[in-house]
Amino acid sequence: MTSTSYLEQQLRSLRMAETAGRLPELITEAERRDVSYQEFLASILNYEQKRREEKQIERFMKWAAFPYHKTLEEFDVREQASLSQKQLNQLKELTWMEQLYNIIFLGPPGSGKTHLSIALGMEAINRGYQVSFLPMGELIHILKTTEIIRKSQMRKKRILKSDLVIIDDLMYMAMNQNEANLFFQLINELYDQSALIFTSNKGPNDWGDLLGDPSITTAILDRILHRAEVVHLDGDSYRMKHRKSIFGDEENADVYMVT
Ligand code: ADP
Ligand code: MG
Repeated sequence: MTSTSYLEQQLRSLRMAETAGRLPELITEAERRDVSYQEFLASILNYEQKRREEKQIERFMKWAAFPYHKTLEEFDVREQASLSQKQLNQLKELTWMEQLYNIIFLGPPGSGKTHLSIALGMEAINRGYQVSFLPMGELIHILKTTEIIRKSQMRKKRILKSDLVIIDDLMYMAMNQNEANLFFQLINELYDQSALIFTSNKGPNDWGDLLGDPSITTAILDRILHRAEVVHLDGDSYRMKHRKSIFGDEENADVYMVT
């Protein structure tokens, strides 16, 4: 029996579901182009592989839970004097990620910290890596509810499996002892397993005040800073400069600029 439906069934039982779904078209295409047996086999296998990679990327994009999508191409280095195009290209290479380096983006609100970390996360996913994006508040919530909420448990598992974990707005709030402990445990579990990106508007010197306990602070900083690149972003807030004005006229809009 070699009917198309039988072949489809066989492909499915061999877990080649993508090819199974497109088999008639793939056969017609091969007949039309009069390809050799070898080329036909290659085209089937390539198709299955390509589709699997595409689906993996879609799945990883969903799991990463980015708040919005931004690319490195959309980041204008002319707007951010403290980062050169060369440095941006180096970040894009992701060598730091493979070497399990951590990146810390420091800077005031609107300086592009979240944009850059999302863009690097998307770049990593496109290269086949798994990524988790977590605003700090959400991360703490997940850690506190891992035992009682299934969704938190699932997200924690994904965090631990990620090649890159992005923690956005680190230390924007003070933590109590329990929260600082949970945070330390996570950093400890990720240490030497995943690369990390942190964004913060406060430098590591100020993190101690928010973590409370000095010994936990030292333990966390040790692990985070062991292999880390600190990128200082500054300058005027991109958001403020490019905000939309209800007056639609630059001069009037400037009345509200705080300088
Ligand atoms: P932060 O996280 O530092 O507060 P964001 O990354 O959220 O700032 O940036 C605020 C907004 O400004 C976002 O929409 C971001 O895309 C945009 N933005 C900031 N810096 C740049 C830049 N250099 N080029 C292009 N867009 C930028
Ligand atoms: Mg931000």
